[in-house]
Amino acid sequence: SFQALMIEDVDGKPRAGFKPIALSDLPDNDVLVEVAYSSLNYKDGLAVSGKGRIARRLPMVAGIDLAGTVVESRSPDWKPGDQVVVNGWGMSETEWGGYARYQRVKPHMLTRLPAKFSLRQAMAIGTAGYTAALCVNALEDWGTIREREGEVLVTGAAGGVGSVAVALLASRGYRVTASTGRKETHEYLASLGAKGFVDRGTLAEKGSMLQKERWVGAVDTVGSTTLVNVLAQTVYGGAVTACGLAGGADLPGSVMPHILRAVTLIGVDSVMAPHAKRDRAWATLAESLDLALLDSMTTVEPLSRVPELAGEILAGRIRGRVVIEIT
Ligand code: NAP
Repeated sequence: SFQALMIEDVDGKPRAGFKPIALSDLPDNDVLVEVAYSSLNYKDGLAVSGKGRIARRLPMVAGIDLAGTVVESRSPDWKPGDQVVVNGWGMSETEWGGYARYQRVKPHMLTRLPAKFSLRQAMAIGTAGYTAALCVNALEDWGTIREREGEVLVTGAAGGVGSVAVALLASRGYRVTASTGRKETHEYLASLGAKGFVDRGTLAEKGSMLQKERWVGAVDTVGSTTLVNVLAQTVYGGAVTACGLAGGADLPGSVMPHILRAVTLIGVDSVMAPHAKRDRAWATLAESLDLALLDSMTTVEPLSRVPELAGEILAGRIRGRVVIEIT
């Protein structure tokens, strides 16, 4: 048997704890993966702390990411020895996830490990980093950041999505401004490529419907009043990707930036993103993410610390990315 971080129903509430399980306890999916690494994302913090109703089926093995090696396969697409990555696809919600030594997954959920990355580096990227790449691709497709000189804003910059977004945008030649609530991360963010800083407090206060035009584009991980202010400060024709809710899930704003400045709000989802978008995001990461910078934003922790780290990430105290070592 092996340890799994399971969410179970305790007196009508989801509660996470370690439990020994056997291969025969795993779901009857076609591909058995030996998990080498998982990672810690904000959503894992919500699931494991019980502060968000992430698991929709209990008991549930938590962990929205995994990277490992195929051990057995009933699918013609995968064979033993293949190195694979799974991001999302309902893991920790409706599908058992990556916080366990072994997992059985559906063949369509697997992505081949890109040649540039090791299993550990793939989890240093994880859902957070791959989502950052989805955001960068969406902004480039929109076009304004490519066509107009100016600053691109990243909010929640010192977090996981934020750190990878800063590094990717800077390496692709954009002038990146980082919004953070932690002054002590300025040096770190500058090392990733940020050229300017905004105190996140100034974006968290309610502002006017239209403000001075500043951002040619933005990656927002915070939501709520922050996202509303970012939209109100975006240049004519610019776009903002919304992927997160670290500051709140509401959107207390106005249509003014959209109808007077043709500002676009682009929604980004990583969980059910189709394969073509995923492959392109991983290609962007392989092309533009410096491996030394990736290492500098990553810490490695054992699975046993995840319950404690869940509280840390929700409190906004995690810098960059955390890889969870499983084997
Ligand atoms: P993370 O590492 O905790 O980063 C979040 C960052 O947001 C924090 O580091 C902090 O940055 C800032 N922050 C935290 N609390 C805040 C508050 N109350 N007000 C303003 N800023 C706050 O989390 P993550 O894993 O990168 O995820 C970031 C967000 O994106 C989460 O909401 C997550 O659920 C979402 N997400 C969504 C998708 C998707 O598919 N749509 C995928 C991945 C992540 P500073 O200290 O620098 O201010």
